[in-house]
Amino acid sequence: MVFFRFENKWLKEPDLEETVIDGWGANDNIAIVDRVARCANKLQKWGKRKRVKFKQEIEECVCEMEALRDNQGDAENRRFQECSDRHATLLVQEEGGCIPTRRRLLERYVDCDVYSPLCEDEVVEDDVHTFFTCVSAQSSWQAAGLSSVLGSAACQQGSVTDKVFALCRNEDYATIGRVATLLWSI
Ligand SMILES: [Zn+2]
Repeated sequence: MVFFRFENKWLKEPDLEETVIDGWGANDNIAIVDRVARCANKLQKWGKRKRVKFKQEIEECVCEMEALRDNQGDAENRRFQECSDRHATLLVQEEGGCIPTRRRLLERYVDCDVYSPLCEDEVVEDDVHTFFTCVSAQSSWQAAGLSSVLGSAACQQGSVTDKVFALCRNEDYATIGRVATLLWSI
């Protein structure tokens, strides 16, 4: 028996379908339990290769940004921006939609209260609340000396992803690094 966990980020990978079809083997005369087992097996191996690829790509982006950051030319700046966007996309794809906020837990039929337990007012605990507007998140931003960055993120419309993208575009490399560490620890 193969145990594996399906990961949402896989859905964005173009060769996922191919892997499932291959594992399923529609034209092979085999029992359904064997099909499922074969699919699981193929997906597990494929997922392992993807994880390695993701990690490599993230590292490549970081290396290239490091190499480019002291250059002042237009071409270098453009390339830096491309790397930075790609880096943000990879990080979001790697972690996207998996934070167990109360809103998400309720959507997945977990019996719990939707309001943030840390805030006095009844505020729904979603991704944006967790990272940006919760009292405990705000004191973390403050403690990290990033209150002004939080202020500019708060002005951005949209999801956590949109806000993080906007930060990556507007802040310098060192600040983005500190923000990433902060978001990670929240
Ligand atoms: Zn809260």
